[in-house]
Amino acid sequence: MSHPALTHLEAAVRIKQLCGQGDTLVVDSKIPLRRYFRSGQEMVRMALVYEEEGSLENAFILYMKFMTLFIEKIRTHPEYSSHSSADKTASNKRVKEILPVAERLKSQLREKYQKEYNLALQELLKAEREARERQEQEEEQRQRTLQQATQRKREAEEEERIEEEKIQELQELQLRRRWDEGQEAPPSYNSLGTIAYPLDQLTLDDLSPPVPPSAPHMPPRDLKPMTTGVPQVDRSSKPTSLMGAKSGGLREVRVPTQLMPNFMSLAHSNTARNVETCGVLAGHLTQHKLLVTHLLVPKQCGTSDSCTTQQEEELFDHQDKLDLITIGWIHTHPSQTAFLSSVDLHTHCSYQLMMPEAIAIVCAPKYKETGFFTLSPHHGLPFIASCQQSGFHPHPKEPPLFQNADHVILDNSLSIKVIDLRNS
Ligand SMILES: [Zn+2]
Ligand SMILES: [Zn+2]
Repeated sequence: MSHPALTHLEAAVRIKQLCGQGDTLVVDSKIPLRRYFRSGQEMVRMALVYEEEGSLENAFILYMKFMTLFIEKIRTHPEYSSHSSADKTASNKRVKEILPVAERLKSQLREKYQKEYNLALQELLKAEREARERQEQEEEQRQRTLQQATQRKREAEEEERIEEEKIQELQELQLRRRWDEGQEAPPSYNSLGTIAYPLDQLTLDDLSPPVPPSAPHMPPRDLKPMTTGVPQVDRSSKPTSLMGAKSGGLREVRVPTQLMPNFMSLAHSNTARNVETCGVLAGHLTQHKLLVTHLLVPKQCGTSDSCTTQQEEELFDHQDKLDLITIGWIHTHPSQTAFLSSVDLHTHCSYQLMMPEAIAIVCAPKYKETGFFTLSPHHGLPFIASCQQSGFHPHPKEPPLFQNADHVILDNSLSIKVIDLRNS
């Protein structure tokens, strides 16, 4: 049983756990620094949506991550010292703006957790009280049943006694009658003064009226064994789950069904020449779902098994103008099946490190395949993040490094906007 004095600690523990989320951030030196500055902007963008939708935990977590990233972790990146001071100044300014916002959210959350904890505590006390009352009632019932059983037993014994007396009287009567009729010798009295009579002369017919069955001397069946020990109370209602359903797990990613044919048609001339095409998937966060609304096709250089984006800044400018969040990427495999090559795995790793829900769509027209992939979060992601090789290189096949992205849902009702920057 928690003491009410620990109530404050409980709320504090939850806050601490939220703050700890920032510690899970890892700055990867292989990911260009400008991507981190970019992600910072997207984090704030997402946090604002969460705040508006009342998802305070998620907003707070993102702000904490933002601050951890820009106050501390980003300085470990090898490009940091040589990076443009404009980005650094901008992010420092942002940190100063976000600090009071995060503080406000923190006190709101603390208040919320406190209320929840108090409520849970009340419920716990109530449950314990109810269990105690139930136990007392059971004990009372047990006593009552025991008394009833004793009473019944006494009554049954009494009935038996009366019955015996009746039998004795009858036998006496019968003997007297026979004696009066001169058939028998007068009853002899034994030393105790009672009449002795031959038992074999007694018939069942003499025993009228019939004897009612005597009450059973068995203990009544509804006598329950007494519950012992401390009453068991369900403690699951205690506010321990902090990253509950909403905060935990991956958010759903909605992909317009139209995306794939649209992308394939703009990739067509490349595909015909056995050259890969790639694009960036961007969109919005709403109601805890990530909606892919835009396909941005950057300037790029493709081969039969690779595709490299160029002038990413241009891409970022467009995303910022439209307030877009990066959700993943799409590319073609003109002559291969749909899978993630070793280079693809490394490309995707940088997306997924920024956004856990990031997806890689691979369109393989020759095999009429479309893959929706993600690095397995517990193996593929840490494995690739720590793999120091570049270019095409072998990775161990087992356990698999990537898997189908189960959090992707194809949506017929969504439309996709295409921004093709290749010829701009
Ligand atoms: Zn590929
Ligand atoms: Zn590798």
